[in-house]
Amino acid sequence: HDVLLDRDFELPCDLLVLTSGYTGDETVNELKGQLKVSSDSEGFFQERHIKLGPLDFPTSGISLCGCARSPKTLKESCEEAVGAAMRASIPMKNGFIEAEGIVAEIDRSLCNDCGLCWKRCPYNAIELDEEKHPRVIKALCKGCGLCAADCPKECITIVHYSDDQILAQIKAALEDSPEEKIIAFVCHWCALGGVDMAGVSRLQYPTNARLIRVMCSARVSIKMIRHAFELGAAGVLVAGCEFPTCHYISGNYAAETRIKRAKRILAKNGFEPDRLWNVWCSAADGPKFASTMRDMVRELGLGEGGN
Ligand code: SF4
Ligand code: SF4
Repeated sequence: HDVLLDRDFELPCDLLVLTSGYTGDETVNELKGQLKVSSDSEGFFQERHIKLGPLDFPTSGISLCGCARSPKTLKESCEEAVGAAMRASIPMKNGFIEAEGIVAEIDRSLCNDCGLCWKRCPYNAIELDEEKHPRVIKALCKGCGLCAADCPKECITIVHYSDDQILAQIKAALEDSPEEKIIAFVCHWCALGGVDMAGVSRLQYPTNARLIRVMCSARVSIKMIRHAFELGAAGVLVAGCEFPTCHYISGNYAAETRIKRAKRILAKNGFEPDRLWNVWCSAADGPKFASTMRDMVRELGLGEGGN
């Protein structure tokens, strides 16, 4: 098939040699670190979302097209290149970009300049000012909350998802019969989609879960998990996007590492680490969420009530 002419044709030949498959190369890894973008295991860059942002990186202002994303024909690459150029032209034409309403804010009076937030932000949205103090670049911040959950001085607030707001939700959820309740932190993107899917599919699962929505599983701090157990929660579940599709590039990886740390800290403080669970699912994974809830209730020895 001639992709340019969009026509089938016959080519008489004695020998047919197929080209070898495309793979990415090592420059992907180098660029990935510099631009703070993600790639897949085949060495291709990964788009923001296969349907909602196929030509965008999660990092604002950088687009991708053609074989940078996956093996493509010349025609497909050209079409995507036009699309990517159009995407790039929008902020250039407007002369401004719209920032997220959910962003990080640093209370400089409490900060000890440890640099953790600056190093860990997946979007390079924290810079050091002239005096080497961290400063949030609000136009780049996506509000994932990773920095706030990791900050040792607890001096980063995520607008609309502050520690106080989330801790208050945990407290309210555990007011009655906490020993029957599971606090389930669900990320806004895939995990909440999975919960919705379980609902619209009318899947049956125990009602013990009390959902607390966070933008990313990386927003869930050890303090929040511990707070739930201190208030008597039967279990805590952290649910996020499956690997490697985190909406915030690497939030689920950070969450997974933190959950392992949280288990060690819980054990040292006399809590049962096995009561802390996690699940990584896609927005279509309603059955996975429902079965996780059933498994948790069974393993934790709970009644299927919790109303
Ligand atoms: S992680 Fe917290 S204490 Fe450390 S530099 Fe960032 S804001 Fe300051
Ligand atoms: S909330 Fe996320 S994107 Fe914003 S500064 Fe913190 S780590 Fe970076």
